Amino acid sequence: MKNTVTFILTLSLILLVGCQKKNNTSGFSGRLGIVLDSSVPEAERELIDMDLFRLSEVNLNSASSRDLQILGVQAFSGNQLTSWLRTRVSFIVGEDFDYGEQANIVGTQTYRPQIFSASLLNEEEIEQNSLITIMINIGGALYRYGKRNNQVLTLDVGGQRVYVKSPRVGVIQIGEGLFSAWSVKSSARDALANSLIRLSVFFHEARHSDGNGDNVTFPHAICPDGHDYAGNYSCDSAANGPYVVDSVMLRNLRNACTGCSNTEIQTFKSFEADALDRMLPGSWDKDIRPEQIP
Ligand SMILES: [Zn+2]
Repeated sequence: MKNTVTFILTLSLILLVGCQKKNNTSGFSGRLGIVLDSSVPEAERELIDMDLFRLSEVNLNSASSRDLQILGVQAFSGNQLTSWLRTRVSFIVGEDFDYGEQANIVGTQTYRPQIFSASLLNEEEIEQNSLITIMINIGGALYRYGKRNNQVLTLDVGGQRVYVKSPRVGVIQIGEGLFSAWSVKSSARDALANSLIRLSVFFHEARHSDGNGDNVTFPHAICPDGHDYAGNYSCDSAANGPYVVDSVMLRNLRNACTGCSNTEIQTFKSFEADALDRMLPGSWDKDIRPEQIP
């Protein structure tokens, strides 16, 4: 695990964002109303659709009151969990989706009332070369880019043109590791265990659709010296941040893994431990309410 698996949200948005480009995307309406962009290869689309169906069927009685508090739900039922996810994820795009090509600047906007710290997104500091990307919340990253540059962006995705006016725009992109590094390698891609493990990533990315002010999109923090991911933006300073959400989901989804092998269960546990280890000492619960511009 060490130094091999991470999620990134922040990415170098050295965008060649232009104007008046043609909307040439198309998509497929998947389960829960989440649109799968045509950039998602058919085999992956079928797997993700199955993952979302499996989520709708779960009933996780193992959730603690703290788990419920972190997600802000009354129960970890299929209904409530899918509703939580649908609020934060509207589109899933494939690895080849070119956000630079599909994003447009359509206006200027001073982002108020929240005060934005310029130090939040320092592109030069974001180097993830040695790490594998599992998924990226590009909707959140584009929102931050617009906010930093006082620009309103649109994104053409899944056959629609969406205005990036909130971190809740909810566009997540599949990374190179979703179907490989972040899985039980000895199990099939459509095995229940791998479905449930992938779902934990969707919840991680969904938390990046929350937040306001300096904490908009719940950006990751740099891991300190001595940490497995020292020097990378692979830790959290929020006790309800993406990695904690990830660990909560892994622990509970593990209980839905009926008939799963010992190897599969151990993989859940090892990913959960890895996620938990990324919460920095002194972390606290941060405000999840999403901001938006008019
Ligand atoms: Zn993340």
